[in-house]
Amino acid sequence: MALDLVLLGPPGSGKGTQAAWLTAKYRIPAIATGDILRAQVDAGTPLGQRVRSYLDRGELVPDQLVVDIIRHRLDEPDTEAGFILDGFPRTVPQAQALDAMLAELQRPLDAVLYLQVDRQALQERLGQRHRQDDRPDIVDHRIEVFLDQTAPLIDYYRGHGKLRLINGAEPPDRVTAAIDDVIRSLLAPSGGPNSSRTAS
Ligand code: ADP
Repeated sequence: MALDLVLLGPPGSGKGTQAAWLTAKYRIPAIATGDILRAQVDAGTPLGQRVRSYLDRGELVPDQLVVDIIRHRLDEPDTEAGFILDGFPRTVPQAQALDAMLAELQRPLDAVLYLQVDRQALQERLGQRHRQDDRPDIVDHRIEVFLDQTAPLIDYYRGHGKLRLINGAEPPDRVTAAIDDVIRSLLAPSGGPNSSRTAS
């Protein structure tokens, strides 16, 4: 069975850290739209030139652009056994586009892991990072953008029965353990005689 996951959470919630761990453990690629976009900016490609000002301001790049990136990326053979999307989708239209893509591929998402972290903790964490867009004013703006444009996905995925809440305020290894519990429950045969035992 393929393991198709989305990591949802505000900037600084630890999505990248957890995605790296998931990749190592389950051998499925982590696909981070932020990393892909930054690589384009660094390489000075036409796409990079187009998106640079959005990243610098902490604004989202246009939906169509990231949807196209994801569409091509999911075509790669390494996603056959599964994938972890980190930082995508970030808007309801992106989520709808993803659902349409996955419906076509006949592989619906297994779960959306929402890493919950309060605002003060986010600001403290991001204050310690040294990325171009981690300046305090831009950080504040990225959190606002999350609350405004991405937080509606919490209800969207709850409505689709996909949402799994993870307390992202805990230390990284505790967060990892909580995520692993969810994944093991996904991989356990459902309704079988052992399924209740595997969960304990
Ligand atoms: P963080 O989670 O800390 O905000 P990311 O690397 O995920 O960091 O994103 C950095 C920037 O890349 C965002 O502020 C935005 O400009 C752009 N970006 C990444 N993913 C998306 C997306 N799915 N839709 C629109 N913009 C995106």
